[in-house]
Amino acid sequence: MFDRLSSLVVALTLVAIAAIFAMLAGGDALTIAILAVAGIAAILVVHGAAPDTTAGARGEAPAEPLPALPGSLLRHPDFARWADQEREPLIGTDDHIVTIANDAAIRLLGRHIVGADIRTAIRHPGAVDALAAAGSPDTLQEIHLADFPRPGHRWTMHIAALSGGERIIFLSDRSAIDAADRMRSDFVANASHELRTPLAAILGYVETLQDMNDEGDGATRHRFLSIIEREARRMQQLVIDLLSISRVEADRFRRPTTPVDLTAIVRTTIAQLKDSDHPRAKDVVAGFDATPLPILGDEAQLGQLAHNIISNAMKYGRADTPVTVELLREGHRGRLAVRDEGEGIAPDHLPRLTERFYRVDEARSRSVGGTGLGLAIVKHISERHQGQLDIESEVGKGTRVSVTFPLAGEA
Ligand code: ADP
Repeated sequence: MFDRLSSLVVALTLVAIAAIFAMLAGGDALTIAILAVAGIAAILVVHGAAPDTTAGARGEAPAEPLPALPGSLLRHPDFARWADQEREPLIGTDDHIVTIANDAAIRLLGRHIVGADIRTAIRHPGAVDALAAAGSPDTLQEIHLADFPRPGHRWTMHIAALSGGERIIFLSDRSAIDAADRMRSDFVANASHELRTPLAAILGYVETLQDMNDEGDGATRHRFLSIIEREARRMQQLVIDLLSISRVEADRFRRPTTPVDLTAIVRTTIAQLKDSDHPRAKDVVAGFDATPLPILGDEAQLGQLAHNIISNAMKYGRADTPVTVELLREGHRGRLAVRDEGEGIAPDHLPRLTERFYRVDEARSRSVGGTGLGLAIVKHISERHQGQLDIESEVGKGTRVSVTFPLAGEA
């Protein structure tokens, strides 16, 4: 705020004002003089001892330069201690020879790298030139290493040059980030493809109807309009499911805190499905009583989870066979289980069913109005509620999809 000189002037002025007030208040001359002299002396002593913190801010050089640290940074014992705490691999080199490698670097490249030439420790065609060069102390070089140390993996290497030929090499694993990026772009590509297919059909039939003008019989026109409606509904369902999955993903880390009754939620879902015009609405059987199953949850999401599992059983079960919905209390958890008598699912498909857009039989899924997102949504909702999803199936006999949730108020 104040520089050194102006703060001194302010302090002296304050002492002078204090002395005048003391005089006006009736103090004798000797007391006032002693007060003023003692005040000034105290200010001078304190002011002289205080460090001048404004010098740096004014751009002036500090009074005394800090002494340079002697020796190598890499050989300092604190450096080794810090390096081992780093989770990412870190290597120090002196004149291209590895002098230090932290635990993560040794796990990645092996203990033998200490004492070896860095160009043999990190064997990668993309790294050779950067590792061979002297490097400038002012720049941090970044190099991407594809298929390092194994095919399919990707790492980034940063090289920081220190003085005297020493360098620090940081490695960071990009494989997981790249995989997430790939998943995201695959998802966008798949979603676009899924939307494009019904859209192309709609445009095709609209053009045909336009070309027909008033020609063509009413039955043909009706058939074309029905196809347009079916494809538009498919697009609508896809958009609804895409929005659901993005909403559920956004909520992923927000644990639900509202107490809800799983029994009541599943009852409502069954009632909605039984009231629908689905050809298998009558086959749904509620195999449970009204005993409440209290859990902490998001009512709308749990309703959607139940809806997706039950409607899959209706879609893929055989006509006129029961779709049985059960609610069970198992220790501290509650289980929702849905059984159907359908063709079942071969074991090699089971681990992939919750992937977005994965279908065992694409044509079958489409013909029953599937989007390939139902079980992906179920998985996300289940994870958010600390649920455990199980799919058991026997080919030719049927499938049982179940989710268990921790009951509220129980450990
Ligand atoms: P879809 O919208 O295609 O039904 P889901 O994500 O809900 O997508 O399910 C993925 C795939 O899992 C389905 O396409 C189907 O092949 C299979 N599947 C799901 N539930 C059942 C079931 N009860 N019986 C047989 N196959 C099922």
